[in-house]
Amino acid sequence: MNFQHNSRRRPLVWAVGFAVASVLLGAWHSAYAADFVIRNLDAGRGEGLSDARRATPIDDNPGTTLGEQRRIALRYAVQIVTSRVESAVPIRIDASVDPNNPELACRRNGATLGVGGATNFTQGFPGAPRDDVVYPLALANALAGRRVADTADLRLFMNGKLDVPANDCLRGARWYYGLRGTPGPNQIDFVASVVHELIHGMGFQSIIVLREQDDTPVGGYPAFSDGRRLPSVFGRYIQDLGATGQPRLSAQSRSQRAEAVNDAPFIVWSSAMTNAATSNFVTQGRQEGRLRIYAPVVIQPASTLSHWSPAVEPDQIMEPFQSVEASVLDGIGLASCVLSDIGWPLSPGVRCPDTQSATIAGPADGDFVTAYATTSVQRRANDGAAPSDTSDDDDDSGGGGCTLAPGQPFDPIWWVMCVMALGVLIHRRRSRLG
Ligand SMILES: [Zn+2]
Repeated sequence: MNFQHNSRRRPLVWAVGFAVASVLLGAWHSAYAADFVIRNLDAGRGEGLSDARRATPIDDNPGTTLGEQRRIALRYAVQIVTSRVESAVPIRIDASVDPNNPELACRRNGATLGVGGATNFTQGFPGAPRDDVVYPLALANALAGRRVADTADLRLFMNGKLDVPANDCLRGARWYYGLRGTPGPNQIDFVASVVHELIHGMGFQSIIVLREQDDTPVGGYPAFSDGRRLPSVFGRYIQDLGATGQPRLSAQSRSQRAEAVNDAPFIVWSSAMTNAATSNFVTQGRQEGRLRIYAPVVIQPASTLSHWSPAVEPDQIMEPFQSVEASVLDGIGLASCVLSDIGWPLSPGVRCPDTQSATIAGPADGDFVTAYATTSVQRRANDGAAPSDTSDDDDDSGGGGCTLAPGQPFDPIWWVMCVMALGVLIHRRRSRLG
């Protein structure tokens, strides 16, 4: 207890302490989480994220209009995901809760709750760990340390039809906009659904062609203009235990992959690190010690190979059917393992699997905008043309893919890939509709 003795020095000590704390806090945002910007695609329309109808605050969501509640819940979901990874580049997310989106079916016995994914994939950027895969934009930005394209990084279209009683969606089910992960018997957790779609957009996506299109048969990858066809970095981890030599799908021929895409239960996640780290956590849904990937006999073009198998227990947020048992209040589970495997630096304290409460985490910071500020971009290493500022991408018609402006450092062929990568769905598990 020698405070008395040092009393005259304390102001200086405090000053130094404050300066150190300021530096640490200043570094916190850029180093320990990924900040974000959400572009409200419903702005000015009076619907979706801007719906002015009155709403009653619910479970930590104080919004007093439907639009405000949706924005609060969406932002909270974005914080859950972005707080678990590090990036010096804020993640840009285009979002809507459109009640008229034709891509988002809503029927009495089943619904597409949302569609989400990366807006684009790229390779050859400075800092790219590999040149035999393509990376979703948000991850490419994180690895490059600066923005590689002046566009949105993720797209998120949530189904606004659920809140229109006349639609009789899912027998009258409504979105639950609370932040406590406790939807009522006829409610669907909006936050959990958004988290699912966001994780797709962070890279939890295979881009193997599952329904023949133009010049690419099933099992192929979309072609780059130089003729190369590359898997996504996620796709590189998918392994076929049913084939001779148990190769990764990316090492198979196109026709072998076409055989493999519906070969459950032999399609698995190959990362030895993840399979070892989760051996005590996962009680079901393994094959030869590896986590099973969704590869049902009947191919589901928007879901096959881009989810865990529904056989995985405990239920996971990245299974193709939403489960009331997979609350994001228990963390993002095995998804943190995949994010790490594909190259995301995890925030300090985030482990594989992630079982922390939703509200952990680095103070990922960000809010809604109606347009992104123009930013200089990191060009592809082999790109000769100067990147131009892209005009605002107004293609918000719903699952419509990417809009590539002339001069963007991307190849138009990726447009094909973007359309496919956005076709990722989540259905309500029918057996739980009861
Ligand atoms: Zn999905």
